Parts: sequence; C-alpha cells; structure tokens
Amino acid sequence: MTQATEQDGRAPVVIVGAGFSGLSAAYELARKNIPTVLIDPDTEVGGLAGSFDVDGVPLEKFYHHWFRSDVDIHRLVAELGAEDNIVYRPTVTGMYHAKSFYRLSGPLDVLRFSALSFIDRIRLGLLVLKARKVTDWRELESRTAKEWLIELGGPEVYRVVWEPLLKGKFGEYAEQVSAVWFWNKLVLRGGSRGKGHKEELAYYRGGFAALAQQVRETIEDNGGTFRLGRSVTGFVREGDRVSGVTLDNGERIEAAEVIVTTATPIASGLLDGHVPADYLERMDRIEYLANICLVLQLDRSLSDTYWLNVADPSFPFVGIIEHTCFEPPESYGGRHIVYLSKYLPPTAELYRMDDADVLDFALPHVQRMFPAFDRSWIRDHHVWRARYAQPVVCKHYSEIMPPMQTPLENVSLATMAQVYPEDRGTNYAVRMGREAGKMVAERLERHPAIRPEASRAV
Ligand SMILES: Cc1cc2nc3c(=O)[nH]c(=O)nc-3n(C[C@H](O)[C@H](O)[C@H](O)COP(=O)(O)OP(=O)(O)OC[C@H]3O[C@@H](n4cnc5c(N)ncnc54)[C@H](O)[C@@H]3O)c2cc1C
Repeated sequence: MTQATEQDGRAPVVIVGAGFSGLSAAYELARKNIPTVLIDPDTEVGGLAGSFDVDGVPLEKFYHHWFRSDVDIHRLVAELGAEDNIVYRPTVTGMYHAKSFYRLSGPLDVLRFSALSFIDRIRLGLLVLKARKVTDWRELESRTAKEWLIELGGPEVYRVVWEPLLKGKFGEYAEQVSAVWFWNKLVLRGGSRGKGHKEELAYYRGGFAALAQQVRETIEDNGGTFRLGRSVTGFVREGDRVSGVTLDNGERIEAAEVIVTTATPIASGLLDGHVPADYLERMDRIEYLANICLVLQLDRSLSDTYWLNVADPSFPFVGIIEHTCFEPPESYGGRHIVYLSKYLPPTAELYRMDDADVLDFALPHVQRMFPAFDRSWIRDHHVWRARYAQPVVCKHYSEIMPPMQTPLENVSLATMAQVYPEDRGTNYAVRMGREAGKMVAERLERHPAIRPEASRAV
C-alpha cells in the first residue's frame, strides 16, 4: 500500500514515469488537491531531461535549452514564482561541411555560406522564409521532408544542407520523415530570435534539474509521493477499468486513475491484453531512434559555436554542442562542456560500445575537425544513452498517433510520441502532462465517489 492509500483510504492517481510529462500531470493534479504516486525506474526525476553531477553542479545528460516559443514552460515557471531563473542568451549556430566551418546564425550568414553557389544561397534564404509562411501544417501531412525541401529550395540546397542533417539524425528513416516535422524545426528555431534578429535560447539557473526538483517539491507539498527506482510491470484489471498497477518488486499500488508517460513501446507492453488490437497497432507503428551522447569536460573551449550541425557523413556524430558557449564555464568550476550527439538505431555498433571504446572511437574524429585538440584537454567524460530518444514522425502521422484516452476508461496516455504537429521537447511534455492531469481531474470531479481525497491543498 502506498502512503496515499494508507493516509486516507482512497486510491491516488498513479503516474507511470517521472519525466517532465509525468511531473506536469502530477503538478496539475496537485493544484486540484488530488494526490498522486509517481513511479520511475530512475532514481532521479526528469527523465530524458535528467542530469548528472559535474563537480557538484547538475548538468543535463543530453544537451537542453528552450526557445522563445516554449510558452508552456514559461507559464509553469511563472506559476512557481521562479521567472527570474530563466535566462536568455544569444547563441551561435554553425555548420561543418566539407572540412570547413560556417556560421549560420542569421540571414547574413546564409548569404556568406560559400558551400553553395550564390543563387543557391538565395534559394536557401527564401526556403526558410517560404517555410515560415505555411500556417496550416495539414497542408504538409502527405509529403515527406525531402519532397518539400527540394520543392522549396532545389536539389543542390537539399543535397548540401538538408540531406546530411536528415540522414545524420534519422539514418535509414531519413526519407520517410514528414514535412510537418521539418517545418516545425524551421519555424521554432527561426522564431527564437531576440532584438536585432539574433538567435537567443533560454536556460534555467541550476539547470533543468533545478526546475524538475521545484516541481517535485510542489507535488510532495501537496500530497504526492514518488516511488523512484521502481518500474510499473502491469495493470490490475476490473472490467473496463484498472484498479491498480504492479511493480517490479511484486508490490501492488491501488489507482483511481493511471496516466502512462513512457515511450509508446513500453506503454504498449503495459496495455497489451487490456485494449483492442487496433489501439496497440497504432502504438506499435511508431518507431523510435536511440541517442548516444559523449559528454566531454575540457580545460578549454573547442570553438565559439554553441550548436554545430555536422553535414559530413564521414563524421560519426550529427551535432557538436558546446554547452559552455551558452551557460558560462564558471557554472561548472571553469570546465568547458561539449556534447557529441548521435541518433541511431539501438542495434548500431556505436550504441553498444563500452564507454571507454566510445571515447577512443570519437577522439580521432574530433581531432580531425579541430586539429589543435588534444586528449590532455579532457578532465572527465561521460557517455549517456537513451533507447527512446526520438519518435520518427512519418507522413499522415495524425492518423497513427494514439489518442490520450486509451480504450480503458481510467487509463490515459501522455507520451513524447503524441507531441504533434510540434516535435518532442520539455515544453510540450509540460503541455501534454498538464492536459492529461486536467482530463483526469475533470473525470474524477464527475465521479466524486471515486475521487481521491488530498491530504493538503496547494
Ligand atoms: C539528445 C536530446 C536532446 C534534447 N534536447 C532538448 C532541448 O534542447 N530542449 C527540450 O525542451 N527538450 C529536449 N529534448 C527532449 C526532451 O528531453 C523530452 O521531450 C522530454 O524530456 C520528454 O519528457 P517525457 O516525460 O514525455 O518523457 P521521458 O523523459 O522519456 O519520461 C518517461 C519516463 O518514464 C520512465 N519509465 C520507463 N519505463 C517505465 C516503467 N515501466 N515504469 C515507470 N516508469 C517508466 C522513464 O524512466 C522516464 O523517466 C531532448 C531529448 C534528447 C534525447
């Protein structure tokens, strides 16, 4: 029995996963005095936006920032009274192509992008403007990103700029990726500009871990509990409803409602045998890429670029993100933090390598790109892997994506793969989690007999 059931004899809302979706669902329920139990195999909250310690300071395992368009994060932070913790900073974006570095932070950089002929630079600039003019994503649902990008910018712009990025990110799925996915990337990134049209991105003082912790404390202050280091293994069924969940230690937890926020392959495993085949099929059609990030802590900087897209198929990572060109190195005891990121299938050799082998494999490539770089610059390194890092958004995705309400009356699904037409991100995890929390709260309001009683109010 959980604390909530012991305290008041009524079942809480069980939330499967304590990433930003799960935390936000619980936060929304806490605001309405509804107790929750959040369960996660990880020992910390935050999920994919979780952190590790660099000299006692939390740093995201996978690079994270926000855009100006991330309004749901801003709203949540404002409700927590912590707006001063959001800091905006100008960032430099670049591209590595054919052994050369190019700055690509604004329109003038595009005009100077000598990897393309002058006419193709104009085409590239116009492509971005034309993409931003699309206001209804439904127009793009039946097209692949490749088809749409070639139509907007021509084959050479596609070959030099977009194809290596799509292949670097989606590998064998590159040509299936929907135009809707790409449209979002162009619109959101382009929309994160401050005065003078310079790109500005946002970060949280103390890192994303500090925000996750604040949300956790708010939930706990209002009767929510956390069962970290534990996985949900199944549902306890009662007709069209579930009455609880089972954990990996054999324990059962009663539930008035369940909100599942894991990746869809995990959710599908939990729902198998409880919902009709067509709902499972929709979930099972969604493919995910994994991600591996090698995080280097260096005694000096590699470059002045925060975000370097690598459009070079011989380089085994698709992005080099120098986090300390965004958040200053002083936040990490003077260390310079560099992420080398690669999206890949979980069967890929790089994903399966030992951490030490990942480092040995990566360094000669880093040296080729930055000839001055020397292994002696490395103070420490970490390797992080995420099996479910990026859902593959294909054509007509809206017809595949499972709805939030599952066929089970009191089980909802709020996962990264249901963020559409936008792409995954903590902002959308907050939006989706809160939406699920609201839906569940309304249902409980309509059935006061099963409404769990909160121990304290927000
Ligand atoms: C490389 C990378 C870079 C990114 N960069 C950014 C960025 O710059 N900005 C941004 O906003 N977002 C970024 N994101 C995306 C962002 O991290 C995610 O969109 C967001 O964290 C998803 O939150 P979630 O709660 O929906 O899912 P998750 O964080 O995946 O949470 C799901 C949770 O379910 C748990 N779980 C799994 N199985 C079980 C089980 N059986 N029982 C209980 N719990 C279970 C997992 O442990 C996990 O904690 C990035 C992601 C990656 C991979």
